[in-house]
Amino acid sequence: MPTFVRTDKCDGCKGQDKTACMYICPHDLMKLDKDGSETGWAMKSYNQEPEQCWECYSCVKICPQQAIEARHYADVVPMGASVQPLRGTDSIMWTIKFRNGNMKRFKFPIRTTPEGSIDPYGGKPSADIAKIGEPGYFTLGGVQKPGDPSELIRK
Ligand code: SF4
Ligand code: SF4
Repeated sequence: MPTFVRTDKCDGCKGQDKTACMYICPHDLMKLDKDGSETGWAMKSYNQEPEQCWECYSCVKICPQQAIEARHYADVVPMGASVQPLRGTDSIMWTIKFRNGNMKRFKFPIRTTPEGSIDPYGGKPSADIAKIGEPGYFTLGGVQKPGDPSELIRK
């Protein structure tokens, strides 16, 4: 079920050219209605093709205002209930609201390295380039090189 924007919460990412939800959507669905001519809500984003939404939740997680919600299937999340994430730098907090008013929160770690860094090998040794021609190794035209952490833009 597609996402929708809570206009009472969205601040249009403070008028930036590309809002956080536009940046993150893998399907390019989110759009900022700058002058309100498309939705009647100026400086609010909206899902311009709800039927194309993958429900990947990326926009829901990245929105700094927690302004995006997803309509869930009624057999998973009954009417009146909601699931809302609050993303931190190392963890994410899920707030589950039941339609009887009960609320539960779950906090999960989301990173194995500090934000802005990666460990490309995950503690494993890098590929042995000497074995690149052996069966079981994939190569195009023999041009293959292992990743080099020093070449990463963000460390
Ligand atoms: S990321 Fe959130 S606050 Fe920013 S434009 Fe999208 S819905 Fe609005
Ligand atoms: S849930 Fe995923 S596909 Fe749907 S609008 Fe958000 S980022 Fe795009």
